[in-house]
Amino acid sequence: MNIGIGNLILNLIYPPRCIFCGTRLSPKVRIAVCDKCSNNLPYCKAYKRCKSCGIPIAQGTGDKCKRCYISRRNITRSTSTFVYVDNARSAIIKFKRSANSSYGRVLSFYIAGMVKSDFKGVEFDAVVSVPPRKKPITKDKFDQAAFLAKEVSLRLGIPYISNALYQARHIKKQSSLSFNARLENVKNAFSVKKQSAVGGKTILLIDDVRTSGATLEECAKALKASGAYKIYSATAAISIIGN
Ligand SMILES: [Zn+2]
Ligand SMILES: [Zn+2]
Repeated sequence: MNIGIGNLILNLIYPPRCIFCGTRLSPKVRIAVCDKCSNNLPYCKAYKRCKSCGIPIAQGTGDKCKRCYISRRNITRSTSTFVYVDNARSAIIKFKRSANSSYGRVLSFYIAGMVKSDFKGVEFDAVVSVPPRKKPITKDKFDQAAFLAKEVSLRLGIPYISNALYQARHIKKQSSLSFNARLENVKNAFSVKKQSAVGGKTILLIDDVRTSGATLEECAKALKASGAYKIYSATAAISIIGN
């Protein structure tokens, strides 16, 4: 596939490196991943997955994971590219900390691919991102979910609605909490900025990592309360710890 003359020139000046192992790559590569890493990433697709939330599940069980059988979902279906382990996990952490767009471009390439294959036939009207957790002190923190959502929107040709959702009240950091505390922590924490922007739409909701799914569910709940028709979600990775 042609990478475009602009990108080729950029790659000649700044030779791309694999985002997972740092290996120098040919200026002609489409995404910054070497073949060795590409063949050894913890893809969710390698497993049987829950039809609802996309988490890898054991062979021989039903179509859904235990949690999806018992709880109501505002999201029609979710997908994730990677299991949040090993080199996928470290790349996502580096992306968050460094705001390096090479990571974001590769991750969004994979997310877009999963959306195309898992949600084949779904006609999306808009891409929306999970809002960043507001911190009392820091101001301009890198919004990695928005970066991924914009890239996915460009790759799939679906309009991105920026700042569609906002955090309406203070929430604690989810990773420090138990599963039930996570649900409680984000309950009714999100609101939609402009109802007319989401009303009647089929929306693709993007975040970097799905853990309990509580944040995505609450965002979807807010979108639905504002009249959105259906919500699908896609994340770069899904954590199997905390599920
Ligand atoms: Zn590599
Ligand atoms: Zn599930």
